[in-house]
Amino acid sequence: MTEINHENASSQVTANEALKWLIEGNRRYVAGQSAPTDLSSSRRSELRTHGQYPFAVVLTCSDSRVPPEHIFNQGLGDLFVVRVAGNVVDDVALGSIEYGVEHLGSPLLLVMGHDYCGAVKATVDGGEAPGSIAAIVERIKPTVDLVKQTGAAGNELYRKVEDQNILAVIRTIQASPIIKHLTEHKQLTIVGGKYHLDSGEVTFIEI
Ligand SMILES: [Zn+2]
Repeated sequence: MTEINHENASSQVTANEALKWLIEGNRRYVAGQSAPTDLSSSRRSELRTHGQYPFAVVLTCSDSRVPPEHIFNQGLGDLFVVRVAGNVVDDVALGSIEYGVEHLGSPLLLVMGHDYCGAVKATVDGGEAPGSIAAIVERIKPTVDLVKQTGAAGNELYRKVEDQNILAVIRTIQASPIIKHLTEHKQLTIVGGKYHLDSGEVTFIEI
């Protein structure tokens, strides 16, 4: 099996190619045929010497069952990952995303939610959110209120909030002047995705 190594990828890669690599990597993962990734000391040295050129920036949930490098079967230096419970953005997360796409030049940004998300469930269920957990809940709450107006309830409500939260987060990111500039100049493509815990599959969402 060929080792995955997208060396110095983002300097030449297009958003379409980057998305194709994510889709192909996810197919391998779903099929239980993940290719070995190079975790050697020589690969580490190479990345340290030549710098990082991740081909995609991924914002996703901190959930331990949702690790992007495994889900997309990618190696060291391939993905610039930002993980926050509920895959929400604040200024710090947005700054990390901007760094990845503007400074490191990744052509693709994926905002990836997942099913059975604890942050979404906590927000839908309400109740007390102690400490700074409240800051996460506050960001998901407007989406819960909107989805509730559609009459969705139970599991349907959770799944729909997960979907709509991905879109709401993308809209927040799109308001960034840096992101706006890059997308308008076709230097950045943003896609939404949802990871399914049972199948391991990522479905992509039109934005
Ligand atoms: Zn989650």
